[in-house]
Order: sequence, then C-alpha cells, then structure tokens
Amino acid sequence: MSYNLVLQCGCVVYVSCHPTTRIAHTRIIQSRAPECDVRRHEVGLRLFLWEILPDPRYQTRLEWADAWEEFRWSA
Ligand SMILES: [Zn+2]
Repeated sequence: MSYNLVLQCGCVVYVSCHPTTRIAHTRIIQSRAPECDVRRHEVGLRLFLWEILPDPRYQTRLEWADAWEEFRWSA
C-alpha cells in the first residue's frame, strides 16, 4: 500500500504504508520539482513526518527542525 504526495515546493514524495496498520513507514523523495529551492530535497532522501505535514501549525517549528537536522548530519 503506497501513494504519492506532492509537497508545497512541488516535489513528489513516495509514501509506503503498512498494509494492516496503515502507518506510513517510508517516505522518500521520488522526483524533485525544478522550482524547488529546498537544498536537501534530493531524489531518494528519506523524509520525517513533520517535514511533509501540510499543517500550518508546524511552520513555527521549522527552524528548530532544521537546526536539529544539521546537528544530526554533522554528528
Ligand atoms: Zn522540494
């Protein structure tokens, strides 16, 4: 069970869900939009749930998430 999700930047994310629990366990950038200006959006990148949530309430947490991500990648 899987589906494609189009992000606000235009990139397409492949989401794979568990057949019985329906919990999405894999989210990967399938194709990158030419107009996307998010440097990290490369084909094959695994995304975390809060990165693809359309909920505007998460906008205020983006800075925190980015900082945490940079910390992870450099560790
Ligand atoms: Zn993008």
